[in-house]
Amino acid sequence: MSEMKSNKPTILVVDDSEMNRSILADILEEYKIMEAANGKEAVSLLEKYGAEIDLVLLDIVMPEMDGFEVLAIMNKYKWIEYIPVIMISAESVSSYIERAYELGVTDYINRPFDSMVVHRRVVNTIMLYAKQKKLVGMVTDQIYEKEKSSSLMVMILSHIVEFRNGESGMHVLHIHVMTEMLLKRLTEKTKQYGLTHADISLITTASALHDIGKINIAQEILNKPGRLTDEEFQIMKTHSMIGATMLKELPSYQEEPLVKVAYEICRWHHERYDGRGYPDGLKGEEIPISAQVVAMADVYKKAFSHEKAMEMILNGECGTFNPLVLECLKDIGSDLQEELEVNSLYTNSKQEMRNVADELLRRDELTASERTLRLLEYERTKYQFFADMSQEIQFEFTAEPSMVNMSAWGAKSLGIDEISMTPFRNAKILNQFGKKNMLGFAECVKKTTPQKPVTQYECSLPLDGEYRWCRVIFRSMWTTDETETFTGVIGKIMDIHEERKKVSELEHKATHDNMTGLVNHVHAKELITQLLSGNPNRKFALVIFDLDHFKQANDNYGHYFGDQVLKHVAEKLNKSVRSTDISARIGGDEFLIFIEYDNNLEMIIDRIFHSLTGQFQKFKISLSMGIAQTEVCGRDYAHLFCCADKALYVVKNSGRGRYCTYDHSMQEQF
Ligand code: GH3
Ligand code: MG
Repeated sequence: MSEMKSNKPTILVVDDSEMNRSILADILEEYKIMEAANGKEAVSLLEKYGAEIDLVLLDIVMPEMDGFEVLAIMNKYKWIEYIPVIMISAESVSSYIERAYELGVTDYINRPFDSMVVHRRVVNTIMLYAKQKKLVGMVTDQIYEKEKSSSLMVMILSHIVEFRNGESGMHVLHIHVMTEMLLKRLTEKTKQYGLTHADISLITTASALHDIGKINIAQEILNKPGRLTDEEFQIMKTHSMIGATMLKELPSYQEEPLVKVAYEICRWHHERYDGRGYPDGLKGEEIPISAQVVAMADVYKKAFSHEKAMEMILNGECGTFNPLVLECLKDIGSDLQEELEVNSLYTNSKQEMRNVADELLRRDELTASERTLRLLEYERTKYQFFADMSQEIQFEFTAEPSMVNMSAWGAKSLGIDEISMTPFRNAKILNQFGKKNMLGFAECVKKTTPQKPVTQYECSLPLDGEYRWCRVIFRSMWTTDETETFTGVIGKIMDIHEERKKVSELEHKATHDNMTGLVNHVHAKELITQLLSGNPNRKFALVIFDLDHFKQANDNYGHYFGDQVLKHVAEKLNKSVRSTDISARIGGDEFLIFIEYDNNLEMIIDRIFHSLTGQFQKFKISLSMGIAQTEVCGRDYAHLFCCADKALYVVKNSGRGRYCTYDHSMQEQF
């Protein structure tokens, strides 16, 4: 049993909530689970058990060290290349998700999650990585084995040549190191030569063969102390062509890349960039880059010290070189000396092989996460584009973390500089929307349900610097699982200023008298009924008055003049009542006032009455007024109206031109 257990893949669950860890452990019961309560613990477990861990489930927000910091460390030490990470988090802001993918996560699962989904994704990822790991391993081993044996052969061969030349065995080693360093630097500098890890490795191996042609040069010339004669030098120069010919005459392996590269190097490592080399007098880029680099490495070794070699090559004493390769030499200068001293021919090779293997695999197909990332990026770009093109104020609010994202157009109209911010703490947002509206939005959204998620709120907002009536439409978002958790809101703000102006104009028309601008009777009745029922302990009086002999104004001075009289009375009325009172035109020359009073009703009435009476041009305004108090008549509008009317009638019937308050004695009169 215990043996079986150790074969289970291991998953490291990193989450600060013990509850969350235990839920995940339950879902993934067939795996071996390691737990970490924060980023720091996760990193130390990865350090210790990295080789055994097959997958990491990582939360974002954690104390000590958060998920992103863990990912940064995993990137730094390249663990992320071998250990897949699935991020599980409640953060659903696209910038978080994007960042996670950028940092190399394989997958991103939003909390709350469906346990089936988590299970499936974990199984898939582990399987995918196991396959890939096996594949990388296989390829690495194959290449390494092959490369190791051919390197070995090359080393032996070149050593024989060197031995015969009387050179130290270190020469080939130095050329090897220097070729590799120069090529690596060159690929960092330019893509011009299209060199891959595999190419560099090949050229570096082949560099050892550059002088194999010397095997055919007579011992006396090769090892002659002092200067060679011209004739001897001519013979010496043949070694490059001889080496090339030896390779060309190999009975097989002509198609082997190693043989091809070795051929280039043997034949052309004495060519010069200015065309003054041998055997072919090739010029500039006619010389293969492999031969150019090995040529430089070859002249380097001829000097006695690093400094001298550098000086001679850079001064041009060793011939002309490709300026780019010269720059590479300058760049690697001191590192080169160090590297040659330490001389680590084989130490890096395993890692080199891995690079080659990775590269081979990468060419084939994109990993799942890259595909997802591309799709995500595509959707995001599309959304952003349409949001900006629509010239609408669109926004998105996520509950966890509390964030607002806005269309660029929206942010501009509202005079907010950022398109992404924390709402309730952002001064600019609070300033533009106002605290009251923010609370209004929240109240409005609170009333939504997954079944009825759309709601709206109307308020005045500053659009392009001018307050305008807006309708804010909200659509609340909920998870689709059985928990139906609220996750945020999407919505837009519409300018309804014109629409609302029209509506309010119509509303005004329906509730006001056209000529005088006073409230009409129907509306007055509504308002008064509201006041009466809403304030059961306050005292009100309903006043009705009618102009005396108004017909005469019409008859004597015309209907238009009559109108002027009515407007004049309305104006006076407006001025003489308080804004909390209601004044209305009942119709014809009949008006209504509704006032609140304490113990001073008589005084108020007297003041109003006298302010309304008086001369208007040729017409003397006189009026008859009836008053009904809630204290006497109760709080029913119809009854109050009836009582006031009765009092008015009393005045009309007793000479006009005064006011009279209803009392119960009037009841019997009619
Ligand atoms: P009384 O003292 O008994 O009230 O006499 P009166 O002449 O004022 O008669 P009453 O109140 O019964 O009639 C009101 C008149 O006001 C009737 C009508 O011709 C006139 N009138 C009603 N509406 C308008 C209006 O909008 N404009 C004008 N110019 N006259 C109107
Ligand atoms: Mg009248």
